[in-house]
Amino acid sequence: MANLGTYKLLADHDPEDEIQFMKGEIEGQLDDKLVKDTIVIVGSGTAGLILSRKLDEERFNVVVISPEETSPHTSLLASAACGLVDFSLAEEQVRHKSRKLTYYKARVEDVDFIRKVCICRSACDIVRGDSKVFEVKYDRLILAPGGTTHTFDIPGADEHALFLRTVADARRVHHRLTQLLELASIPHVSADEQRRLLHIIIVGGGPTCIELAGKLSDLIDGDLTTLYLELKDKISVSIHDSRAYHSGRFEAALRQCCLEGSSRRHVQLFLDSHITKVEVDSITTEALGRVPCGMAVWTAGNKTCALVGKFKTASSKDEPSRILTDEYLHVLTLDAEQKAMSQVYALGDAADIKDGFLPPTAEVAKQKAEYLAETLNAESDRKTAFEYQQQYGLLGWLGGNDGVVQGQIDWTPSRAWAAWQSGNSNSLFARSWRNHLSMAIHWVADWVRG
Ligand SMILES: Cc1cc2nc3c(=O)[nH]c(=O)nc-3n(C[C@H](O)[C@H](O)[C@H](O)COP(=O)(O)OP(=O)(O)OC[C@H]3O[C@@H](n4cnc5c(N)ncnc54)[C@H](O)[C@@H]3O)c2cc1C
Repeated sequence: MANLGTYKLLADHDPEDEIQFMKGEIEGQLDDKLVKDTIVIVGSGTAGLILSRKLDEERFNVVVISPEETSPHTSLLASAACGLVDFSLAEEQVRHKSRKLTYYKARVEDVDFIRKVCICRSACDIVRGDSKVFEVKYDRLILAPGGTTHTFDIPGADEHALFLRTVADARRVHHRLTQLLELASIPHVSADEQRRLLHIIIVGGGPTCIELAGKLSDLIDGDLTTLYLELKDKISVSIHDSRAYHSGRFEAALRQCCLEGSSRRHVQLFLDSHITKVEVDSITTEALGRVPCGMAVWTAGNKTCALVGKFKTASSKDEPSRILTDEYLHVLTLDAEQKAMSQVYALGDAADIKDGFLPPTAEVAKQKAEYLAETLNAESDRKTAFEYQQQYGLLGWLGGNDGVVQGQIDWTPSRAWAAWQSGNSNSLFARSWRNHLSMAIHWVADWVRG
């Protein structure tokens, strides 16, 4: 039930809210849903989850719509995929016992900005084809649907490659890895077949690729040596990057460091390698022809998610195209004037500030989410524009005690690794005390185990 304090506050402020209140009284439904503004957040990634945790639930009905009921700690996905950390550490539930938020497991298919509704389709995979279409009305809309992986229309990539963007993706990689190891352990599997099954190809050259390669080599040097002793020499990891340089988002010195770090850790690198086909048991490249493998994990390329492609709002010209906002994170209209759309905001990987490019990183998403929550909670005509303060930069874990960080200072191997372990990544990704604590316990246990 709404209290009179809430009514008074709203009635003092806005005649529109008085009408809403009266509507509630007339209908005998004097509840929160009628007197509070509804904020709909599209997406439960870094930006969406942080915002949903920080908005003042006494002032707003917070509704999160996302096909994923958890939010990934993307920096831990590679470790989880390799079975090196528990999946519970790599994700956080959207629903929260002490938060009054509404969650719909659904995909927003379109937004009617005139009627202020999101058109949604349920994403509960129980009976195939049995999805429900429904509308959710908003007073304020926050768009944070992130981006998606680009496979550049390479035949077979979407069907046969695995990905590493969500926790579900990481589970698939982990499942395939364990199945490959078990299959290779079965009697009478030839040595050649064992080598094929245990050849893991990573497509890409960015931080995700480097981290996965590093974690796989940790696994090979660690648990696999004892658990699958007879297979140790048959496991191999190779990276295929279409660019001539490695790890594109890192600066040159760090890129070099990645390169050396990866090859030191038994990972074979194929730069300038153009893939033409992906099949269930191989990839084909222009230079090498058919390369047999047990699995190919595709980490290359980002593209705009389908929803953003539908919007008739201003968008950036570069690829992947992102929703353009002003410096207060209001979405801009498509017309020549590019006016700020009232009560519609965008942030995270899906959005960029006009004339103020920022990279698609968790750090940017987090800072924008915190800024927007503060602005909306204050309900003032705040005129402080969003300003990004780089703290961590890009972190890359090469495996073992190696890592790279691109930040205010470009750190290299051991210092970067220490930064990662000691909590920089925790502060960036952990969003609750429970999560901080679990991560800390995990790092200590890992260290004790060696
Ligand atoms: C493996 C990996 C490692 C990374 N490591 C780092 C790192 O070390 N440091 C760093 O700064 N950054 C890192 N990043 C990048 C960072 O994770 C992203 O920049 C950040 O998560 C972006 O947040 P977001 O909320 O915009 O998007 P996302 O986190 O991608 O979330 C988007 C959400 O929107 C949902 N969604 C999509 N379409 C719809 C729709 N139509 N309707 C409703 N919901 C929808 C998705 O399901 C998802 O829940 C990494 C990324 C990956 C994949």
